[in-house]
Amino acid sequence: MLTKIGPRRARQTSSAVAGDGGWILAAETQDLASAAAIGFALFVLALVARSAVPTNRRPQSLNHMQSSRVILGSRTNVMPSRHQYLVTAILLLSLLSCSQPGHPHRTSATLPHQLDLLRPLHEQLGPPRPGDWLLSHDEPGQTFAEWRARSPIMARGKRRSIYIQPIGAFTKSERRIVELTSEFMQCYFQRPVYFLPDLPEERIPEEARRVHPSWGDQQILTTYVLHEVLAPSLPDDAAALIAFTATDLWPGDNWNYVFGQASLRARVGVWSIHRNGDPTASEAAFRLCLLRTCKTATHETGHMFSMAHCTAYECNMCGSNNRDESDRHPLPCCPECVAKICHATDSEPLPRFEALAAFCKTHGLGKAETFYKKSIDALRH
Ligand SMILES: [Zn+2]
Ligand SMILES: [Zn+2]
Repeated sequence: MLTKIGPRRARQTSSAVAGDGGWILAAETQDLASAAAIGFALFVLALVARSAVPTNRRPQSLNHMQSSRVILGSRTNVMPSRHQYLVTAILLLSLLSCSQPGHPHRTSATLPHQLDLLRPLHEQLGPPRPGDWLLSHDEPGQTFAEWRARSPIMARGKRRSIYIQPIGAFTKSERRIVELTSEFMQCYFQRPVYFLPDLPEERIPEEARRVHPSWGDQQILTTYVLHEVLAPSLPDDAAALIAFTATDLWPGDNWNYVFGQASLRARVGVWSIHRNGDPTASEAAFRLCLLRTCKTATHETGHMFSMAHCTAYECNMCGSNNRDESDRHPLPCCPECVAKICHATDSEPLPRFEALAAFCKTHGLGKAETFYKKSIDALRH
């Protein structure tokens, strides 16, 4: 059976590889570290204030008003030193930077209303057909609220950029598909997208490559790319690093191939153009290849922002077991998934839809363009 990997399997694969558990732990301990820093800062601030009270006038016990009066009334002896001011300033800055991740998102207040305006445009996901993803994968779906409750990976703060790592050779048309896909990703995630220098396929060792036993296709092992190529070279400002190749992919034993695979926590992913058709065959074939590649690239990058498969609507984040099912799913996301993307990337739905509609118009993706225009109209009225 032709198969495509999903987040459940991706998690299992990741957890089997040494080091992934550490990444998850590191992500979860960020909040604890922030809380500890705030606690420590408050403690040292209290010490600074206390040391500002002259020893010879510090009573055994002072209430708040007495303490204030003593400090304000003994200017010469109680003014904090420059060093104390410096320490205080540094700690306040630490407090501010530590508290940023917990700040209310600027779109949070308006997102629920905008979701309600968009919902009537979207088709609920019907029962799975024979061979579909949900017939063989028991997945519960994930609302915007459930996603937020999981402390998802986001493209905010220091890590705001998306990087693409090309692997292996590309024809001129394939290279054009990659470039256009990067432009689409920039519209889709409202984040800058940068290319890293090409990596020759020879850099992938023999044990991470194979010829498919039945079809004879050259294939690259996704788990090697994720853990040995991408994770060690994740740039400091990368919200996500995703490899792109024209060679077919497979994720390990018992799998024939995958369109792509991404980690839900480690900010790395890989996808292939290999099964997206020949972009040189005709203009229509080029557009189909572009559409499929944009779908896979944004679907996998969505996983990298901790988005699980969608089971509520026809949506780009639905799981796909084969080419037919993948082609049936739309390029646009449902309202729940749009909310996740906007929250993860600190962006507003309306300018995002406008950028996406403009891209689709320029590159002949008419069905998606129409849908994005309807979304724009729904938000404006
Ligand atoms: Zn998926
Ligand atoms: Zn969705």
